Amino acid sequence: MEKAFAIPISRRDFMKLAGLTAASSLLGIKDDAAKAEAASPTISTMDFDNAELPVLFDADVCVVGGGVAGTAAAVTAARKGAKVVLVERGISLGGLATLGCVFPCMATYCYDSDTPYITDLNKRMEKQGVPPLLGVDTDSYFGGGRGQYVPEYLSFVYDEMCEEAGVDILYNTSLVGAVTDGGKIVSCVVQTIEGLAKIQAKTFVDGTGDALLSRFAGIPVEKGSEKTGRNQPMSLRFEMGGIDMGKLYHQFIIKGVKERGPFDKLAEDTLRKKGRPFLQFWKWKQNEKFFQDGVARGELTEDDIVYIQAFTITGKPTVLSMNCPEMPALNFSATDTASYSRAVTFGRKMMHRLAGFFIKNVPGFEKAYISREASMVGVRESWRIRGKYYMTDKEYTDARHFHDAVARTAYPIDIHDVNLDLSKKLKKGEYYEIPYRALVTNEISNLLVVGRCASGSFAAQASFRIQPTCMSMGEAAGIAAAWGISHGIEANALRWEDIPAEERSYVSEG
Ligand SMILES: Cc1cc2nc3c(=O)[nH]c(=O)nc-3n(C[C@H](O)[C@H](O)[C@H](O)COP(=O)(O)OP(=O)(O)OC[C@H]3O[C@@H](n4cnc5c(N)ncnc54)[C@H](O)[C@@H]3O)c2cc1C
Repeated sequence: MEKAFAIPISRRDFMKLAGLTAASSLLGIKDDAAKAEAASPTISTMDFDNAELPVLFDADVCVVGGGVAGTAAAVTAARKGAKVVLVERGISLGGLATLGCVFPCMATYCYDSDTPYITDLNKRMEKQGVPPLLGVDTDSYFGGGRGQYVPEYLSFVYDEMCEEAGVDILYNTSLVGAVTDGGKIVSCVVQTIEGLAKIQAKTFVDGTGDALLSRFAGIPVEKGSEKTGRNQPMSLRFEMGGIDMGKLYHQFIIKGVKERGPFDKLAEDTLRKKGRPFLQFWKWKQNEKFFQDGVARGELTEDDIVYIQAFTITGKPTVLSMNCPEMPALNFSATDTASYSRAVTFGRKMMHRLAGFFIKNVPGFEKAYISREASMVGVRESWRIRGKYYMTDKEYTDARHFHDAVARTAYPIDIHDVNLDLSKKLKKGEYYEIPYRALVTNEISNLLVVGRCASGSFAAQASFRIQPTCMSMGEAAGIAAAWGISHGIEANALRWEDIPAEERSYVSEG
């Protein structure tokens, strides 16, 4: 476990860190992930306590990070009557779901997991012509989630929701520090287009995905696998347009199923049941040779073919959303600045090799092109807080329920790098719950932490990181923040179960 302190980094500490980096090279630690682990045990920050900066906002709730989790928190808190400001470094809300081109929203594999905010969002997306994903694989078990959050519509709908609820969004504004006093965050410091400024609030929500506000506030954090120290691999997602989907479907996917055996379950389901035309096109055991041949011809590398997956997108009839390339976790770290940046350049090369390979070899891709590249790196996991409750893989394997639960899910522990013994799978009807206490900390009373950086182990996060669960966490944080302020109770002293059931987004059935 590492601890992050919100103190100005001294020259001595800086030299210590520099020494560690040098030592790791002397010791011959080659991979960036290992170096990152050794080199960044603390966060460096300026001392903003007495800095005379303009106060840009004085709000009830300040949410930092407008990903699916942070946006849910901001909209919900505002709907509950709080004055909310939402700080986002990009110029659209949605984080990975929009800037990162992550599509589709995964199913939770359990029924009744959609909290009211998700139901409302799905209705709004439906109005845009993108209904939730229904009719696919109806015999098997999908459950909640399944929103088809097409990035361009999602950012539009999020703006609409914030405007209606009265959330003040600060785009192109980055968190750079925090001022704490007596176990509370007093203000956060942001870089705006005008320069540095402070935002004061009664309660803060960390939706940065990287626990950045928490680290500035001195909350203990962890990163990567407890076994290897490595983060989950990053991806640089993209979309390809100009695809002849009929040709791809009949001449590659279905032909492949007939010739090589069932390698694509959804393709088969679509074929048999005439469900909604939703396709997955990916590398699987049975079509491995097709991609290996590409490596043998020098068109692809072994790294390129570790993970290949693509999805059709409702409303974009010639486009596939590529859940690749995936940059090797062994070589690149999501928690080391230089390594993270090298991963982008490496990933972009992979992307162009993959696109070229598809165009040359896959029927239907003849006139295809890269139509969109993610403007945010696909970070599955970076820093996670150690909050009042710490989730582990046991929550999933034991299907644990909690009196203060804010969400339920049965989404499996989905790790792309390390092989853990995850043989135990929840049965149909089983699910686990996320306790409110995993969103609050012991150290800072007026802080809530939502989304992929909430409190849990590497394995736990690999399940709770999917979009519907992140949204439900954000929604609960918004309710708790507004309710806590109006009842004079700090976020980390508040008991979720004390909020009247009709005001809660989720009530555990026990
Ligand atoms: C490659 C990949 C594929 C995935 N596939 C799926 C999938 O198919 N379905 C699914 O449901 N989930 C999937 N996931 C997981 C899921 O998309 C994410 O875990 C989830 O969206 C995280 O939401 P979040 O709000 O916690 O964080 P993020 O989406 O990371 O949002 C964080 C936000 O904070 C902002 N921010 C960060 N730092 C600052 C700062 N200093 N100042 C201001 N703003 C800041 C960012 O710009 C961003 O908007 C995938 C993830 C990846 C990486």
